[in-house]
Amino acid sequence: MPVHSQLLSVLLPTYNERENLPLAVYLLTKHLDASAMDYEIIIIDDGSPDGTLEAAEQLQKIYGSKRIVLRPRARKLGLGTAYIHGLHHAKGDFIIIMDADLSHHPKFIAEFIRKQREGDYDVVTGSRYIAGGGVHGWDLRRKIMSRGANFLAQILLQPGVSDLTGSFRLYKREVLQHLVERSLSKGYVFQMEMMVRARQLGYSIAEVPITFVDRVYGESKLGGNEIVSYLKGLLQLFAST
Ligand code: UDP
Ligand code: MG
Repeated sequence: MPVHSQLLSVLLPTYNERENLPLAVYLLTKHLDASAMDYEIIIIDDGSPDGTLEAAEQLQKIYGSKRIVLRPRARKLGLGTAYIHGLHHAKGDFIIIMDADLSHHPKFIAEFIRKQREGDYDVVTGSRYIAGGGVHGWDLRRKIMSRGANFLAQILLQPGVSDLTGSFRLYKREVLQHLVERSLSKGYVFQMEMMVRARQLGYSIAEVPITFVDRVYGESKLGGNEIVSYLKGLLQLFAST
């Protein structure tokens, strides 16, 4: 298939990202316009009380409804189901999933695309934990949490992927569809389960280094509840694989 006929769908889940979304979308259009691919940006807002959806509507007026697709939900239903919901409406041959809070910089997408083509990979996952990758702006507590979560998962699940808890990834559309159907978790564990299932199902996975920069605006939604459900989910995964 010639490159120019391929469509890329970018799924952007948002919850209270009014301050980040305009810049995230601007940077996405800038970097995607420079790539050879046609694209759509699907914003899945989880009923944010801060006016994120109104900001998204403004962005749609600026960039057009071909580029910006709005698929809001009435309330906060969680990340995992946000991806499923977005995927349902995505028309792309390839899907990028990333955070909307500028922690995932759109400049890396070119590298995801290049890598995918290099070996016709089913999944290309961004990694903070290989040479060239990294984390900026996290305090020691958050760094230890992320490393710890990854370390535990590596030991229990042995997925052969260095960064399990990140979410900046590119998937072939039908592969993501299949993974989503096979995955049981709903919250943050979803990212991890997708990689574990991908390995199980024999899909090819490549990694590219990314740098993750902590959000400047707004707050992380990762709280104590998420940590407990992460541990629960990890053990469930361990038991079911
Ligand atoms: N998010 C969402 N629904 C939720 C929680 C988070 O759409 O219930 C979005 C959030 O707006 C962001 C991404 O998911 O775009 C990652 O969330 P966050 O930045 O809070 O997590 P962290 O980067 O701290 O792990
Ligand atoms: Mg974040």
